[in-house]
Amino acid sequence: MTFAFDNTYARLPDRFYARLAPIPVARPDMVKLNLSLASRLGLNPQALQSPEGLSVLAGNRIPEGAEPLAMAYAGHQFGNFVPQLGDGRAILLGEIVDPAGERFDIQLKGSGRTPFSRAGDGRAWLGPVLREYIVSEAMQAFGIPTTRSLAAVTTGEPVYRESALPGAVLTRVARSHVRVGTFEYFAARQDTEALKCLADYVIARHYPEARESERPYRALLDAVVVRQADLVAKWLGVGFIHGVMNTDNMSIVGETIDYGPCAFMDAYHPATVYSSIDYRGRYAYGNQPGIAQWNLAQLAQALLPLIAEDAESAREEAQAAIDAFGQRFERAYRECFRAKLGCMETHEDDADLLGSLLQAMAESGADFTNTFRALCDAVAGTDVPVRARPGAVALPDVWLRRWRARLAREEVSPVARAARMRNVNPAVIPRNHRVEEALDAAVEGDLEPLEALLDVLASPWDERPEMASYTRPPAPHEVVQQTFCGT
Ligand code: AMP
Ligand code: MG
Repeated sequence: MTFAFDNTYARLPDRFYARLAPIPVARPDMVKLNLSLASRLGLNPQALQSPEGLSVLAGNRIPEGAEPLAMAYAGHQFGNFVPQLGDGRAILLGEIVDPAGERFDIQLKGSGRTPFSRAGDGRAWLGPVLREYIVSEAMQAFGIPTTRSLAAVTTGEPVYRESALPGAVLTRVARSHVRVGTFEYFAARQDTEALKCLADYVIARHYPEARESERPYRALLDAVVVRQADLVAKWLGVGFIHGVMNTDNMSIVGETIDYGPCAFMDAYHPATVYSSIDYRGRYAYGNQPGIAQWNLAQLAQALLPLIAEDAESAREEAQAAIDAFGQRFERAYRECFRAKLGCMETHEDDADLLGSLLQAMAESGADFTNTFRALCDAVAGTDVPVRARPGAVALPDVWLRRWRARLAREEVSPVARAARMRNVNPAVIPRNHRVEEALDAAVEGDLEPLEALLDVLASPWDERPEMASYTRPPAPHEVVQQTFCGT
């Protein structure tokens, strides 16, 4: 089992991490291996499936060239600053460069205690591991930047939460595990040397164009703002709620990371919250853009000493960078929903058209996914399909008329328009009740529902007959009210 490791994070100063190996586990067993990701990464699927591969994926064997470490970071959790978090249950094995020349971190999550574990056991259990697997791979299929899941293995050891649960390890693949909280970690220690070193590292690895700028650190901040604004707009476009948008869960490269109590909305409402620990709805669906901007302000704050020499101009620069979020997000959001509505060009009253649709949907509790999908059907004919989709309650006739009039302003054949719409409005999402069903079965040893769900989610745009049951919103007794971070 060989990974062509080429590690750069391990070359950074000692205070960026703690070097240690994953803690071995009793009896590893493969639950799921991501064959298509393995081949994309240039890894040999047979080798990964071998006993040797399994022991690597469980943390029992350190592959050649790995330099295992737990990364240090801080973070604002629900608005409160915690100066030291760090990888409390994860180990970065190293980085590999795929055949396309792209560099990825290979990380084991659930791999045992580290110096950053605090009171935690350093472990994960199968439910949250598979939840991350399912949702991250669905995000990938939607074309939304995300970390990915290479494998899920059970450890043969129990993990104690409310009860004894099967322990598991996820192999996570990311362009970076540097978080906003990594910058905050050094800023809080007033370790400007480390801060600069981290910023230079991130620029060199992820934002090389910023190096050409007159003010590279301002350019870095600007670039991160753009990626986050675009990311959150895409989340909203598929009804995704991250659930714990703490600054330690915000990737510096704009990938969705740290899938905990995340969920996709069924019925549309901007105040939707699923996370059991989000008592005040801080991370509700509709709050996510504002929270992203708030998190970026924490990044800007951390970067101040690098942005300019005198404090006053540093603050002004940082503020300007953060202020730019609003416009960038609005643009990305409008583009996303314009495409969802089937419009090709931008018109002045588009925001109003969308606003009144969303309001009608919120008032009637319309299923987010199926309502937009029904609009794809409706392009070609009457509004009957809008009413026919489960959960896609009848939209007001005035709105439908207005929408049709809007579409008529553009010369596009209905067939072509419907096809384009079906490429931005998924037929299936990982609905909470189907995710829970797959996890419950997997914990009982039945992997069939998991495999079936993953199969459907791998091509979420086309509607095959066997997918019908996955497109249905939950029946009242199936509705998942809460999701848990499972730590
Ligand atoms: P999360 O909410 O999963 O993003 O985790 C927040 C912090 O808690 C991170 O520093 C994690 O490494 C740490 N953490 C979460 N679960 C555990 C666990 N079971 N054992 C040790 N540390 C954990
Ligand atoms: Mg986290």
